[in-house]
Amino acid sequence: MGSDNTSEVSAGNTYPAVCRPNGMHLWSLQTGKNGEGKFYLYRDTKIRGIRQTHQPSPWINDYNTWSFMPVTRNVLGQDGRASWFSHKEETFEPHRMKAYLADDGVMVELTATERAALARVTYPETEAPYFIVDAYDNRGKVRLDKSMRRIWGESGFVSKRRMALGVVPESFVNRFVLEFDRDFTEAGASGSVVRVKFAPMKRGETVSVKIASSFISDEQALRNLDELGDGDFDRLLKEGRKAWNERLGRIRVEGGNIDDLRKFYTCLYRTQIFPLALHEHGADGRAIHRNPDTGRVEEGFYYGGTGFWDTFRALFPLLNFVYPDINAKMTEGLRNCWRECGWLPEWSSPGIIKCMIGNNSASVVADACLTPGVVSRATAEELYQALLHGANAVKDGNSSCGRLGWEEYNRLGYVPRDADITYSAARTLEYAYDDWCIWRLGVTLGRPKDETDVYLKRSGNWRNLFNRDVGLACGRTKDGTFDSAFDPFCWGGDFIEGCSWHYTWSVFHDIAGLAEAMGGKTALARTLDKIFELPPVVRGYGGKIIHEMREMMVMGFGQYAHGNQPIQHMIYLYDWTDEPWKTQYRAREAMNRLYKPTPDGYCGDEDNGQTSAWFVWSALGMYPVCPASGEYALGAPLFERTTVTFPDGRRLVVSAPGVTDRKRYAKRVSHNGMEHVGNFLKRDSLRDGGELAFEMLDSPALRTSGGEWEK
Ligand code: CA
Repeated sequence: MGSDNTSEVSAGNTYPAVCRPNGMHLWSLQTGKNGEGKFYLYRDTKIRGIRQTHQPSPWINDYNTWSFMPVTRNVLGQDGRASWFSHKEETFEPHRMKAYLADDGVMVELTATERAALARVTYPETEAPYFIVDAYDNRGKVRLDKSMRRIWGESGFVSKRRMALGVVPESFVNRFVLEFDRDFTEAGASGSVVRVKFAPMKRGETVSVKIASSFISDEQALRNLDELGDGDFDRLLKEGRKAWNERLGRIRVEGGNIDDLRKFYTCLYRTQIFPLALHEHGADGRAIHRNPDTGRVEEGFYYGGTGFWDTFRALFPLLNFVYPDINAKMTEGLRNCWRECGWLPEWSSPGIIKCMIGNNSASVVADACLTPGVVSRATAEELYQALLHGANAVKDGNSSCGRLGWEEYNRLGYVPRDADITYSAARTLEYAYDDWCIWRLGVTLGRPKDETDVYLKRSGNWRNLFNRDVGLACGRTKDGTFDSAFDPFCWGGDFIEGCSWHYTWSVFHDIAGLAEAMGGKTALARTLDKIFELPPVVRGYGGKIIHEMREMMVMGFGQYAHGNQPIQHMIYLYDWTDEPWKTQYRAREAMNRLYKPTPDGYCGDEDNGQTSAWFVWSALGMYPVCPASGEYALGAPLFERTTVTFPDGRRLVVSAPGVTDRKRYAKRVSHNGMEHVGNFLKRDSLRDGGELAFEMLDSPALRTSGGEWEK
């Protein structure tokens, strides 16, 4: 799902990745040229290499990548070695890949551990069994150790695009080693590409290649090779399968059709890849990492490869709910980032890069710290200091780290549109929510009232941009004047990758306040309705159509732009009106129409687990509109029975007997036999387990936002 893309329309911008959950390296096939962001496109017909990748998204490109390619022709370069393949002779599962390289008659298989991989190459009868390793010409190096049957390499690949977003330190190099089970009869290198040859092969003869990588040292790369043990392919396959089943099996669904099943588990798989672990295990077994910003080797966990602007919304809440044990390590990694860099990332890949806006690390951190059992109090206190720092500063040379425009925001209560600060309204709305997260964590930690009150007050700053004349969020100049040429359909400008129709809802923490500002619950409901009724008109960005615009235009959902993140919680806002059935109706429509179990299956960039996490939550019948609140807005389940197993063994069964596409409305909800009142569920109560039972209807149940039944 998501690998059939063009630069005009993204259908996910994903690639099939073989790895362990949140492993260090991902493995895929490379159909595009070295350096191309869209390196795996479903429509492509040739493979240029089996690629180790760390790429979160094509527009951000890869780092420290390299590839290998077994061939039987006298070829070397990426064009010459390209081989025809067919998706019918290609298998991707989370723990393994298998592909037939037609021009060479070679079958290649690979299974991965966290930091290593085992490849099994089956050659035809040939006098010329070659094996090529390409460390990329940009900072790539290769060398041979014939006596040990090893190829060593270094990849420091950094694309031009990535250089512009933030430089990876010179010392942050991927040191990799390949160890073969037989001698080389010939070997030669050309630049960063090396080719070895083996003795002639009989038909069906296999070569086993152990592979490992380290960001620390060659010695550590050899240590990482130990993850493969004796190199038994079938045993490693079994272990990889088990590791994935442990993660994916935490949510077990029953009922639904084959498409729903495929969509659900594909989405759940996508939520378990990024961020990637950047730590390795040293000689004494303890976690160590090379810091991707400072280049120094330090102790402890570390993760990279996620944009909080996307993933604070649904991915991290999902981790906190179902995988708190996993997020505990990630949050420790954030603490280490703060200690080592003096900042929390907003976008990391692998280090802190300049990308998107907001200060949404506040949401990620507060959500983790406020979820029981994720972090210790000492860690929460330390991270809270990091939040205070990031809310009142901006990193030198990186407008995406900390808060660009913080002085103006603190002084005026909004980022003004005439202060040469980009995306002023979008920043203001996100900062106000981030302030609410800081306030909530501060209060929980017992911080002084005069300190926390500042953030509570600032959390109301969204009001400063709510223009009652138009009923929407609107940019404002320093003197307090609203944008006189305001166009709610205008993308960019005061907003980023969206328009006011999409951003007005970014008041995650005070939807009741937003309803009041709009003129009450009914006015909120009518404005929500409008999103689906309006034509998909787009303006802005100087007349340029960015792919996110086109993704909205082609979906037939009016102004509902699910292909990008800002509006993704909006469907659930009917829970604050007297028409929560519209949430149930629309969430099902979105699950049906905006997700397909096909290569063009997403309706825009998947974005490292976020758009997938939306589906997982929606299938569960709930959504974390305000992540750090510990509350979920009710929807309606996709499956008849969904069993969530928490790490402590407790189980939550979400049941919806008889649910179908037609019978999509919730009549009544009960938790452990007690009728549930209201449209919101508490995480901590759900974590106790038991049964959350939905009684389903084929027509809307008229229920008020207070939860009372009208009929
Ligand atoms: Ca996006």
